[in-house]
Amino acid sequence: MEKQILLLPGDGIGPEIIAETKRVLEEIARMYRHTFRFIEGRIGGDAIDATGSPLPEETLGLAKGSDAILLGAVGGPKWDGNAPEKRPEKGLLQIRKALGLYANLRPVRVLEPLMGASTLKEEVLADVDLLIVRELTGGLYFGEPRERRQINGEDGAVDTLLYTRGEIERILHQAFQFARTRKKRVVSVDKANVLESSRLWREVADEVAREYPDVTLSHMLVDNAAMQLIRDPRQFDVIVTENLFGDILSDEASMITGSLGLLPSASMNTSKVGLFEPVHGSAPDIAGTGAANPLATILSAAMMLQYSFGLADEAKAIEVAVDRVLAQGVRTKDIAKASENAVSTTAITNAVIEALALKSASSR
Ligand code: NAD
Repeated sequence: MEKQILLLPGDGIGPEIIAETKRVLEEIARMYRHTFRFIEGRIGGDAIDATGSPLPEETLGLAKGSDAILLGAVGGPKWDGNAPEKRPEKGLLQIRKALGLYANLRPVRVLEPLMGASTLKEEVLADVDLLIVRELTGGLYFGEPRERRQINGEDGAVDTLLYTRGEIERILHQAFQFARTRKKRVVSVDKANVLESSRLWREVADEVAREYPDVTLSHMLVDNAAMQLIRDPRQFDVIVTENLFGDILSDEASMITGSLGLLPSASMNTSKVGLFEPVHGSAPDIAGTGAANPLATILSAAMMLQYSFGLADEAKAIEVAVDRVLAQGVRTKDIAKASENAVSTTAITNAVIEALALKSASSR
């Protein structure tokens, strides 16, 4: 198979984790005889410094001509004071919107060797395997008006939570289709007791559910969902929700696994071109120290192989290699216990590549 992959390293630890993940993909290409052509573009603060824009036209052109995009992270204190249009995060919102990436997938799987890294009790964690499907291009982050204005003679501000029936339908369809390949349970999260947009969401969810009689749909209010995720995360299979709720719930869910450094994500549209990125940010506090955990990005690359390229075996090989490395006790600082020696970004990637080689030796 021949594919073009656009690498967007971005800011902070982004370049470090992307460089390491590229090595893993190169190893996969070698093992399975694929050709991955890597090209690189600018996004975020790096792009602002070079071109004045967080998403230069050139990057968007490269993205549109590629089969998939692997992104590190954007942002950092250097650009915190910038005007809204010149902030690194704007580049992310723009590329998602420009490519129509309306479905954000965030799997949360508790890895047995890392149970100790979570703040939750082990009996709550065993067998957690859930998928958060977050609507990504609508809702409060995109609705207009969005402005500062005078309200009753004092400073005020307004943001707009807006959804159309079509936007809700397509994300619900995605959730039901993923549920079909899993445990066939969808929980739709909303705030239908207060928000009009949530009442439409709930109505549409019930309608879409009729097309998937083999999948069970239930509804949960977002405040309850936030509690249930911590109380008993095993109850969930697929959670589908709107943009803001999904943003918050998926960060909460990340703590179930014990580290942001382990959570991959994918943003997809109905065609197969997707953007794959770790859930964590650019971690400016550890950038350049060699301490960044690359596993979330490596697992994002596995999602890319599976969801964009249909390479399920190759994706599984990466997941198994990561599990094996963690079972061996290899840890970066963010997931190491005080008593354990932490290794560098490069060292843990080397261990993943070695574990992949073991797999290819054992399957020969
Ligand atoms: P963050 O995720 O960057 O960091 C939070 C904490 O987790 C930090 O202590 C960091 O060192 C640690 N951490 C995160 N990823 C890690 C990894 N791979 N390995 C080891 N430790 C890791 O969140 P933040 O500090 O709130 O934000 C920093 C910058 O990142 C901000 O500019 C923010 O806007 C941006 N951000 C970007 C994205 C994105 O690009 N998708 C997402 C969230 C935040």
